[in-house]
Amino acid sequence: MKLVILGGGASGMAAAIEAAHTNAHMDIIIAEKLDRPGKKILATGNGRCNFSNINASVDNYYGKDSNFTAWCLKRFTVNDTVNFFNQLGIFPKEEDKGKLYPFSGQASSVLDCLRNEIKRLGIHMETGFYAKEISKSKKSFKITAADKRVLYADKLIVAGGGCASPVLGSDGSCFELLRSMGHRVSELAPALVQMKTDPKEVRSLQGIKVNGVLRLIQKDRYIAEDRGEILFTDYGISGPPVFQLSARIPFRKNIIASIDLMPDNSPKEVYDILEYRRSCLSHLTMEDFFTGLLNKRVGNLIARRAGIDKLSFKAEMLDDRLLWSIASLIKDYRLEIKGTKGFGNAQVTAGGVLTADFDEKTMESKLVKGLYACGEVLDIYGDCGGYNLQWAWSSGRLAGKSAAEALM
Ligand SMILES: Cc1cc2nc3c(=O)[nH]c(=O)nc-3n(C[C@H](O)[C@H](O)[C@H](O)COP(=O)(O)OP(=O)(O)OC[C@H]3O[C@@H](n4cnc5c(N)ncnc54)[C@H](O)[C@@H]3O)c2cc1C
Repeated sequence: MKLVILGGGASGMAAAIEAAHTNAHMDIIIAEKLDRPGKKILATGNGRCNFSNINASVDNYYGKDSNFTAWCLKRFTVNDTVNFFNQLGIFPKEEDKGKLYPFSGQASSVLDCLRNEIKRLGIHMETGFYAKEISKSKKSFKITAADKRVLYADKLIVAGGGCASPVLGSDGSCFELLRSMGHRVSELAPALVQMKTDPKEVRSLQGIKVNGVLRLIQKDRYIAEDRGEILFTDYGISGPPVFQLSARIPFRKNIIASIDLMPDNSPKEVYDILEYRRSCLSHLTMEDFFTGLLNKRVGNLIARRAGIDKLSFKAEMLDDRLLWSIASLIKDYRLEIKGTKGFGNAQVTAGGVLTADFDEKTMESKLVKGLYACGEVLDIYGDCGGYNLQWAWSSGRLAGKSAAEALM
């Protein structure tokens, strides 16, 4: 009996290991496009691999039917992930907001532990195998690679990821393979990615980091917010809150990013601070009025937005109306979001193969018996902070277990 797993990423390796743990009497082959598996894992968590999050729940996931995750996350929980990796040698370390990392601080240790277990279990790794075609006869699946190598399988798990960061392997080809077997694929968009604004709005701030609250607004309706370091770039904004909130952007239009530069103070408190500065620093021009309160270039931009054309404008000339509009801009500095930096820079893909075509209890296709899918290739993605890898481990293990049980 043979199980082939297409894709040697996080979900594919988890599927293979779980399948081998469940049923020792079958051949398991991981067919991976690149010359080695798990390349993306090495890049996760800035090289430290934020491999899960103790707070993971259905609410952290998005997709046409994000409830699809519920069964899977219950079947293979965060605790199960921690135990799974503990047994492979990964001692977990919890950091802010429930993020879990390996104590070693190295993403490579997560990959090494997975590879050691794969080797111990005798799972065969077929590398450089770029699957181009899948077909199914009555008896088995036939998987053909770009170089004409062919693999046959009694059960097939597709774990080829989405199209985010294609240099790390996942180029969207598995969407086409599953489509060719009759599955529906929803609209795709990059997520967990930098946001683009009008470059003219941010060019003068390039390289500046501010600690603030980022809010997303659509047609005056509040969507979500996150707090942390926001980085201005030549194209727009980046930084942890930007990545976090970009999960909420796909498929929405007319998004406004509002930055609160003094989140610990109310608008009235900010106004009072400005009023006090006006009385003490009345001799200064707008060029220097904000020094010590805001980054100088941010202050200059705010003064301009408030309608003060010349930086030589004296603080003593600020009337109460101008002070209020400066205070409002400090609390609510708005940038129109023009898009994102695209799949090349994105951490995950929003959209994918519709989960309605799969059984959430087994991850098996409802259309093609014996075919399973897991990980990012499905129309499920999560927040920033370890949730996407948790989905990869949970869904991979469920698919691996189901396929192995079906071969018993
Ligand atoms: C830079 C970066 C940082 C990230 N950091 C984190 C983090 O810290 N925490 C977190 O939770 N998530 C993080 N993510 C997201 C997370 O890595 C992914 O959600 C997760 O790896 C998806 O797992 P997967 O197995 O579904 O797909 P992938 O990990 O993308 O694996 C798919 C594999 O399939 C192979 N493949 C694709 N097509 C074919 C084909 N046709 N034939 C054969 N093989 C194929 C690919 O080469 C690849 O090895 C990050 C992503 C990126 C890009």
